[in-house]
Amino acid sequence: MALAVTSSSTAISGSSFSRSGPSSDPKALQICSFRLSELSHVSQRRYSLKSLKAESHTRNDSLVTRASTLITPEVEEKEEDVEDFEQLAKKLEEASPLEIMDKALQKFGSNIAIAFSGAEDVALIEYARLTGRPFRVFSLDTGRLNPETYRLFDAVEKQYGIRIEYTFPDAVEVQALVRNKGLFSFYEDGHQECCRVRKVRPLRRALKGLKAWITGQRKDQSPGTRSEIPIVQVDPVFEGLDGGVGSLVKWNPLANVEGGDVWNFLRTMDVPVNALHAQGYVSIGCEPCTRPVLPGQHEREGRWWWEDAKAKECGLHKGNIKKEDDTTADLAPAIVHDIFESNNVVALSRGGIENLLKLGNRKEPWLVVLYAPWCPFCQAMEASYVELAEKLAVKGVKVAKFRADGDQKEFAKQELQLGSFPTILLFPKSAPRAIKYPSEHRDVDSLMSFVNLLR
Ligand code: SF4
Repeated sequence: MALAVTSSSTAISGSSFSRSGPSSDPKALQICSFRLSELSHVSQRRYSLKSLKAESHTRNDSLVTRASTLITPEVEEKEEDVEDFEQLAKKLEEASPLEIMDKALQKFGSNIAIAFSGAEDVALIEYARLTGRPFRVFSLDTGRLNPETYRLFDAVEKQYGIRIEYTFPDAVEVQALVRNKGLFSFYEDGHQECCRVRKVRPLRRALKGLKAWITGQRKDQSPGTRSEIPIVQVDPVFEGLDGGVGSLVKWNPLANVEGGDVWNFLRTMDVPVNALHAQGYVSIGCEPCTRPVLPGQHEREGRWWWEDAKAKECGLHKGNIKKEDDTTADLAPAIVHDIFESNNVVALSRGGIENLLKLGNRKEPWLVVLYAPWCPFCQAMEASYVELAEKLAVKGVKVAKFRADGDQKEFAKQELQLGSFPTILLFPKSAPRAIKYPSEHRDVDSLMSFVNLLR
């Protein structure tokens, strides 16, 4: 099976991409599409990762890299050769995705592969082609992808003349999960378990055959979890071929690129894209866990929409989620101010909202937002909610907020129907139960209709 494509015909302008030396020899001997002469510069260059200083390493026999291990460069474990990827990330902060891709492929040769999800990260494959270097692509087939995604995989293989290296979940594990909990357990108890079986463990296996991987993560994809993605980093979660924490390097060439620019690039280069994009899908994952978003909605609102915005990582990039040292910390370092600050918005205490819950007959209807000040979706609706409060003040409707993260989260989940932030509740004048606003349209007019129809 061909593991890579050689595309040396593409010329790259600019001094940083000039080709010289052995890589330009068209008669070079090829193994699995990699020219030995192209890779010889890799073996001459001594590099190592911090973790490679570990005492012993178990080689993985993964199919993914069996061929490439034939030409794995000698790794020398000298202190002075340890690559400082933090420094490198800083150096590359202003570099273009093409420069970053070129650097990644040049450094890791056959031991690096592009992770392709079947969405707009096809841009990575196009950048790899443009470098003129051989490259490998792998993907996780979770068994729950959309038909359109499989079509894209096929189109990409044909367009680039490559074979994508698919990794599948363990059949026994999937069987146990589905037999025990059904096909859609993630709607009941969260996506983590299913993602662990269908994505994370297969990914772990695939990465154990590599020394580096390339992802399509961007800072603007998820303000809660991806805002600090570096261009390159020692992978904080997964192990690579040589084993041990730090034995894998993760490259994010699109970290600083905005979604709109990726799309401009795809259109300009006439690259095949997932047909779901034309139906309003932006971020695309498994079929049951992905839905289209409306213009103006954040792309991550189309993924695991029944869960907290902050936790929207499937485990593949778990290192992006910051550890919390207390339950109210959340993304606290980035948060200075509370939100929904207005004379027309009452800040409810736990006792206040408990009273609202108890009252069967209220003097006036109440509209309450359950929020967390760090939540980007709450921040995005702040202006509309404050404007709405002003308009409702003269109509005898009380507007309030209740901070429902940290210590209050469990209570809010149990008693206040909190699913994800923000959750908006209307406590009508006479109905005992609060009514949850069911839509993600949080503009003034939509919220006003909701209040007027149900108050
Ligand atoms: Fe399962 Fe959904 Fe995760 Fe896919 S995205 S692995 S279907 S929970």
